[in-house]
Amino acid sequence: GSKENGRNRVTFFEPDMDAALRMRRNLESDLRKALADGSLTMVYQPQMNGRGSIDAMEALVRWNHPERGSIAPSIFVPLCEESGLILDLGEFVFRRVFQETAGWGDIRVAINVSALQLRSPMFMATLTRLVAEFRVNPERYEIEITETALLGDDGITRDNITMLKQEGFSIALDDFGTGYSSLNSLKRFSVDKIKIDRSFVHNLEANDEAEGLVDAIVKLGRALKLDVVAEGVETEHQRERLAACGCNTFQGFLVSRPVPAEELDGLFSGHNP
Ligand code: C2E
Ligand code: MG
Ligand code: MG
Ligand code: MG
Repeated sequence: GSKENGRNRVTFFEPDMDAALRMRRNLESDLRKALADGSLTMVYQPQMNGRGSIDAMEALVRWNHPERGSIAPSIFVPLCEESGLILDLGEFVFRRVFQETAGWGDIRVAINVSALQLRSPMFMATLTRLVAEFRVNPERYEIEITETALLGDDGITRDNITMLKQEGFSIALDDFGTGYSSLNSLKRFSVDKIKIDRSFVHNLEANDEAEGLVDAIVKLGRALKLDVVAEGVETEHQRERLAACGCNTFQGFLVSRPVPAEELDGLFSGHNP
């Protein structure tokens, strides 16, 4: 059809598409600024272990936009991945987390990394530079990756994971059960821990099938000698069902929401240098 017709046809949604695109561009440039001026922050969510104490935290990034207020990482992390900002975000996160947690004694800290970070040949160089700069012990840090990171299985990802392990970092597979990782890839990438996705935990409330699935994941973890942690535990009932499946390590609002480092420093102040 002619250009004229085309224009008529799209009249109703063209302005919206423009608006969406504009908003996206704006967010992207605001994100670039936020990365440059350090206005992103980190929060930390405790993990409860089988003895009922807290010896690990997951670091989660937060963006408080000057006009729009808080924007969820599920929105801006993918935006970083699509716009080439993910390596900058990744470096920001490592830097800030090492800085804030260096004095936390034996507490272990989990850090999320994007599949695209692991696909970068510069990943380990950046990380080892930061480890040296902040004098942190990699054995206290756990790298959380999602199953999609293992899917491509390109050489660079494999090399990066091998080097991470050699440096002393451990590897946790996030959102486990929602992706497509094979038992083979759990072994090949020497994963140390699996985190049962919170959708399974949520369903424990509603159906028996969910309990069967969780039970199977826990048994799988045990067979492969992996640690198993449940995500998104909100209720006592969920915790009981998990315990019945043999999973006593968990993270979720039942224990605590993610909180800023300042609120946690007191807990570990005995260890501070
Ligand atoms: P994730 O790594 O699976 O993180 C767990 C998410 O579940 C977090 O959402 C956390 O706030 C939320 N959560 C924890 N306990 C509960 C609960 O009891 N109930 C419910 N409904 N939710 C709970 P958040 O912070 O919004 O992060 C979402 C995702 O964004 C993360 O999922 C992770 O994939 C990504 N992300 C967060 N921080 C970073 C980061 O620093 N770097 C990268 N690359 N990705 C990040
Ligand atoms: Mg995670
Ligand atoms: Mg998760
Ligand atoms: Mg997730």
